[in-house]
Amino acid sequence: MKIIENIYKTSGVEFETNSNTFVLETEDELIFFDLGYEEKQWNIMKNSLKRWNLSDKKITKAFITHGHYDHAGNTFRANEAGIEVYGADPDAYKIENGYPEMEKLFNREWVCGKVDHRLSDGQSFAFKDATVTAYAFPGHSLGSYGFVIETKGYRALVTGDAFFIKPCPPEDAIDIDLAYMGGEDFNRECFASSLKKMSELHCDILLPGHYYVYYGDVDALCAKAYEALKEN
Ligand SMILES: [Zn+2]
Repeated sequence: MKIIENIYKTSGVEFETNSNTFVLETEDELIFFDLGYEEKQWNIMKNSLKRWNLSDKKITKAFITHGHYDHAGNTFRANEAGIEVYGADPDAYKIENGYPEMEKLFNREWVCGKVDHRLSDGQSFAFKDATVTAYAFPGHSLGSYGFVIETKGYRALVTGDAFFIKPCPPEDAIDIDLAYMGGEDFNRECFASSLKKMSELHCDILLPGHYYVYYGDVDALCAKAYEALKEN
């Protein structure tokens, strides 16, 4: 699914997978955002690349929003494919050393992977026709990160699990659903500051970790999520 000229959704609800993954195409490489879980999703992601004639480009990097199984379970597959993986502690530590909480939650054995690089808040990556800036968004998990992709005149915000978009019939308004708040390291105070921080990044496309992509005033949507958390 093409989001804009050089950003694609490679798995997600339209592909009958639980979590979303995205790819940014730069002049000479492909950058993944989240890795999904299990071989089925991995194959769907690779097939998406084929469909958009991206298979010949090298996937050089993968940015992980957080360590939960549905976003980082395929880290070991990225390692095998020679992709450099970027993530943040404490999630990265769990990806590398085992994640009993996820084994219980998803009833699967955790296969450890390597997070090659630890992200820092505000760290920026320059590509030929895009810039990716990493932001610490702790809350949903303590090592949660998001990314602003600046490319082709757009600012797209990759949020992982913060909140999701929900169309509201009959008037087709947009509402939001806050992400899972039952994790062992969920932190409400951090989550509130992260939503606030997201609402000040002036993005025009939202690329969340589940369900639908949103085009429009992302600041307003993040502010709505912040208000929803206060009321929750
Ligand atoms: Zn999660």
